Amino acid sequence: MLPLLLALAPLLLHAQQVADPQLLREIRAIRAIDNHAHVVRPVADDTEYDALPFSLLEPPPAGTMPGPVPSRPDNPLFIKAWKALFAYPHADASEAHTKVAIALKEKAIRQHETTPGAYSAWVLDRQGIDIVLVNRIAMAPDLPGPRFRWVPFADALIFPLDNSLAKAANRDYNAFFPAEERLLKRYMEESGVRALPPTLVEYCRTVVTPTLERHRAAGAVAEKLESAYLRWLDFAPADEDNTARIYARHARGGPPSTADYKTLQDYLFAYVAREAGRLGMAIHIHVANGGGYNYDQRGSNPLLLTWAFNEPSLRKTNFVIVHGGYPYYRDTAGLISKPNVYADFSALSFFEGVQGQADILRIWLSAWPEKVLFGTDATPMADGVSWEEVGWTASQTAREALAIALTRMIHDGEITRARASELGRMVLRDNAKKLYGF
Ligand SMILES: [Zn+2]
Repeated sequence: MLPLLLALAPLLLHAQQVADPQLLREIRAIRAIDNHAHVVRPVADDTEYDALPFSLLEPPPAGTMPGPVPSRPDNPLFIKAWKALFAYPHADASEAHTKVAIALKEKAIRQHETTPGAYSAWVLDRQGIDIVLVNRIAMAPDLPGPRFRWVPFADALIFPLDNSLAKAANRDYNAFFPAEERLLKRYMEESGVRALPPTLVEYCRTVVTPTLERHRAAGAVAEKLESAYLRWLDFAPADEDNTARIYARHARGGPPSTADYKTLQDYLFAYVAREAGRLGMAIHIHVANGGGYNYDQRGSNPLLLTWAFNEPSLRKTNFVIVHGGYPYYRDTAGLISKPNVYADFSALSFFEGVQGQADILRIWLSAWPEKVLFGTDATPMADGVSWEEVGWTASQTAREALAIALTRMIHDGEITRARASELGRMVLRDNAKKLYGF
């Protein structure tokens, strides 16, 4: 008996790792809502797809690999994406053939972009995506609603003072802060404010609130925070009077101490989050253990956000843990128990294969299926590999992973086959629809 069981064991294991084919077909047909992407406009030299593009960072040390394995340009899935999107005729991504892929993409843009937005909508159709939440500094007529929904960036608002101590402390902070300083200038100009106001109350009233209100009026559904690239995520309560004194002391220049500046940032984080909630926008927070060669992993554990998620004055704001808090998925599973906290699994196609993504989804779906959102983190990655290819790839692997996780749950008697269909729709579409009121 024992030898027979041992002989069957690999088969049983295999059975659990393969998706029910009919369920997978069903899941592939769902027109998804992508909770997180950086859509690039179909024009030359668009740089507004991220407030902190990695191109700002110093080049990687010689011999360093360009990101985790699934994110590298030689990922065979990117070749499949070229074939699916642009009828790419080659089986490899050699330098010469990559030029072919780029030329085919340019041809597709010329063919489809006869009306503004037609090309990007055509790409979404091929990715199986109905609506995409677009992280961008600014939107444009070639990314039209209702399929392209805006998620602007709010970090610039919470770092209004002299950032020189942070710049000296970390080389990635040093590379990124100038972009935030420029963006704050832009937000101030758009608010009709020339110099930093002398008091915190005035700064909030004349710069922060008007910027968030402008974003909302222009169709924003959420504000994005990339703070983990600029500081730790350990936001904490900040006394209003003390914070106002810190602000007033440094509004005219000179760096506040690291501790004082943290207090001000904590205050402004909560202010932004509260205002976003009042205006009906969610807060998206980049929470992932990685990004940049000097990234401070210690500061990006999702548990650092516990205070923010528990703070009574922020309970009317919905938060999304973007990238699922990679790799602390179990901690994220605990955090999404809170009424106003969600998680997406965008970017996980860079870090995890299909089985890895299925393992994570299985953990989350067993406990809080209403809080799980699909996302791609479609973004430029390499020559010829941009939001089109990354979005296509992530859409494929996420659906396979979802089908595998649900098949395992059926197999283990946790859910019925009918509930599996329902959960597939919730993750890919219905949870986001409900959260953003689409
Ligand atoms: Zn992103």
